Amino acid sequence: MDNILNAVADCILKAESILFIAGAGLSADSGLPTYRGVGGLFEGVLTQEGIPIEEAISNKMLQTRPEVTWKYLWQIGAACHRTKFNRAHEVIAQIESWKPDTLVLTQNIDGFERAAGSKNLIEVHGRLSELYCVNCSYRTTAEELLAGYSKPMNLPPKCPVCGGLIRPDIELFGEHHMSSSEETFKMLDNATIDLIFLIGTSRDYPYITKPLYKAHGLNVPIVEINPAETALSEIADYNIRSTAADTLDKLWSICEKRRGS
Ligand SMILES: [Zn+2]
Repeated sequence: MDNILNAVADCILKAESILFIAGAGLSADSGLPTYRGVGGLFEGVLTQEGIPIEEAISNKMLQTRPEVTWKYLWQIGAACHRTKFNRAHEVIAQIESWKPDTLVLTQNIDGFERAAGSKNLIEVHGRLSELYCVNCSYRTTAEELLAGYSKPMNLPPKCPVCGGLIRPDIELFGEHHMSSSEETFKMLDNATIDLIFLIGTSRDYPYITKPLYKAHGLNVPIVEINPAETALSEIADYNIRSTAADTLDKLWSICEKRRGS
């Protein structure tokens, strides 16, 4: 394991532009369950309403029974609010400060990358704490409108301007978010990446596989950090079977030592 870590630290030291592709495993060390999309907090579990969570947190349900969708959005939001970013998010932000061309593409909606200080950020599924009205141009945050999920309120929340339905700026099941990300995707297309980290994700979505296969074809090293083997493991040059926080902390220590010597 030490040999792999040393080799990967070498890659970090040499690289100028690193792409981190992050999934739920990155937030697992924060104490959040690894969830699939927005629903996996209860993955495979029926809700009290007797419907799968994927249906409860879908666009269709938001249109027809928004109080049901909001009941579960609230639980997920409160879970995210109770926890915070971990050492892995911190190291990624530290690497960006060191190498400003670093990019982070995340599937997570908890906003921890941003909170930890990452700036070149592509949040493909949006951010749960960002809220907007479906009728007018009102936008706010969960901190502001929902008091950070700290006190009970009637759901769904209503727009203080027009009374319309408030929803989070995330991709619900049955939707394609992406809208706010088009500019940032261009950023990814135009970037010259010379090292890729795949952290805690097993999803072979096109927005992940496209930059991966492009990089692979250009002999860009790919490092996977994941406790388990995934559908993407084969393409990685280095497979680190461990958690994100522990691994990135060790890698950062090695890099610090080498930079100091
Ligand atoms: Zn409104």
